Amino acid sequence: MRNMKGEDAYVSPLHFRQFKAMRNAPTTLGLLLSSLVLSGCASTVETANVEQPAQSKSLCQTSLVKLDTDFPTGNIASCKASGKTRFDITLAPEDAPPINCSAWYAFRLTPSRAGTVTVNLTYEACGHRYWPKVSEDGVKWDYLPKKNVVVEEVDGVKQAWIKVQLGANPVFVAGQEIFAPSTYQTWLDQVSKSPDAAQWLLGKSAEGRNIPGMTIKAAGSKPKEQVVLVGRQHPPEVTGALAMLPFVETLLSDDPVAKKYRARFETVIVPMLNPDGVVRGHWRHNTGGVDLNRDWGPFTQPETKLMDGLLRKIEENPDQKLQLLLDFHSTQKDVFYTIPDEYPTNPPLFIRDWLARYQDRMPGYNVNRDARHSADRPISKAYTYETYGAPAVTFEIGDETDRGLIKRIGKESAIAMMETLLATDAP
Ligand SMILES: [Zn+2]
Repeated sequence: MRNMKGEDAYVSPLHFRQFKAMRNAPTTLGLLLSSLVLSGCASTVETANVEQPAQSKSLCQTSLVKLDTDFPTGNIASCKASGKTRFDITLAPEDAPPINCSAWYAFRLTPSRAGTVTVNLTYEACGHRYWPKVSEDGVKWDYLPKKNVVVEEVDGVKQAWIKVQLGANPVFVAGQEIFAPSTYQTWLDQVSKSPDAAQWLLGKSAEGRNIPGMTIKAAGSKPKEQVVLVGRQHPPEVTGALAMLPFVETLLSDDPVAKKYRARFETVIVPMLNPDGVVRGHWRHNTGGVDLNRDWGPFTQPETKLMDGLLRKIEENPDQKLQLLLDFHSTQKDVFYTIPDEYPTNPPLFIRDWLARYQDRMPGYNVNRDARHSADRPISKAYTYETYGAPAVTFEIGDETDRGLIKRIGKESAIAMMETLLATDAP
């Protein structure tokens, strides 16, 4: 696909053909999905209350199997059953272009007896991007085997045909592991048991969902230096989330470096800024039809306004100083989008030094940096640097980066960050 150039690229409108309005108004009600764990990723998530869209979504059925999207992150544009074991589904973004081509899908197949189901995925825009992952329990995920996936370009758009083996149980099929608000909440509940962590509510999304926050610092300390982490501005970017969890867990570890770090620095974490987009299975936007990472500066959306408030509060406190912002995302490969070293930051040359230490910790792995800056771009990196002078980085993980490697990336980049920050002069 020509149009999948990564986080900072827009797709050409030429790749968009027709759009269908997505279904409206899934609201929330509590439903317990037991043991929601992302196996091979953040090891800590065990159970979860899942926000459930109140109305039934995209249900279609053959005599042998039912397809639905009635769970958080579930989303397809339309579905048609044909024969006993075949579905034709269409996939479309939530809004007209411009949008990045993060062609998300998530649906569930519920069999009445064992067999093989064929699902044709027809993309109305962008084309197939995410390798299908399957899970029976929403806990352990597997890649659909290569022999079960055919991807073919039709009129310049990649379409996919997949076969899914069904046993007795329902199977989730999704572009990435399902990582819903409940997953974050379960994780936050677990990690914030540490005396050095505190959970709080940053605020509410446009649809009233919680946008959680967490602060990490040595218990009883009043650090003068702040590090801000933000994630999931873009709903399908699950691998960024999978890196953020071990990153944060490393900051909370018993490692002597982490203890020193927590005594000097306060880390303020907003792991999921766009819960509405996540629950609705959006490709890119919040429910205001806005790419949140193109709204830093204008701050027109309730979600980005909350980040503005958070950064202002640090700035306005004479005893605090923003030292770093990391914004976790996903794209086609692992890459750090950074401010170039020629632009002075405070602390000076932090990004250069951090990534050098990180590279040293990752033998056999190539740390990939793409340094560029345009002052007026309303993205977190440019805005934070221009407004506060702090180094700011878009921390991108590849869509299909090995999940074990993602854990290592999260851990080692966190240790390197702490060491680099501790090596700077205290204000
Ligand atoms: Zn992104």
